[in-house]
Amino acid sequence: MENELITQIPQQIDLIRQKIPSHVRLIAVSKQISASAIRIAYNCGIRDFAENRLQEAIAKQEQLQDLSDICWHFIGHIQTKKARKVLEHFSWIHSLDSLKLAKKLNNLAAELSVSPQILLQVKILPDPNKYGWEVPELLAALPELNSCDYLNIQGLMAILPLGLSPEQTLSAFTETRKVAETIQQQQWSNLAMNELSMGMSGDYLLAIKAGATMVRLGTIIFGQRAM
Ligand SMILES: *Cc1c(COP(=O)(O)O)cnc(C)c1O
Repeated sequence: MENELITQIPQQIDLIRQKIPSHVRLIAVSKQISASAIRIAYNCGIRDFAENRLQEAIAKQEQLQDLSDICWHFIGHIQTKKARKVLEHFSWIHSLDSLKLAKKLNNLAAELSVSPQILLQVKILPDPNKYGWEVPELLAALPELNSCDYLNIQGLMAILPLGLSPEQTLSAFTETRKVAETIQQQQWSNLAMNELSMGMSGDYLLAIKAGATMVRLGTIIFGQRAM
């Protein structure tokens, strides 16, 4: 089954590239996808890969050590006890979802002398199944986030609840952009809001319409994952 899908990867990447503007960073979500499929996407020019499970990601990174210019993105929820390993293995973290985690990452980044690129995961619409800051909570946390000197906070990440109409989807992504603009207008010394990581296989075109600078695409590149 996987072999069949693997042959589609280059075509799918071509199709996606035709649809997205060149300033939008195409991140291939390789969770549950084999190292050999990642290699195929790499050979099509993809350099950004995202994973949501630490152990699985580390195993694949070991198999792909020769591809030293891959930029790895972490997109899953991070338990504080795993924060150190995430920093050691990923340059971008899209899923910073609490002040506790921010402080933990900041301390560890100082200790490890790394300066991770960070996105704040926001929950624009209520969703009991998802982590993320609610907007008022995020706005209240900004002074403390701004003082996390070792974190390069670059913008926001959003995942929408399932089952929205295209109109609701576009409006939720637009809302996310507006939150980023609100934060930007406050001119925090240490918080950039230039990146918006939003859009998955089913909604990336709407996300781009609303201002996404990064899209995270799994299924549409690699095919359906086993559940
Ligand atoms: C799995 C996942 C994706 C990719 O989803 P697809 O629908 O397969 O494109 C994007 N973002 C996050 C946070 C994910 O967990």
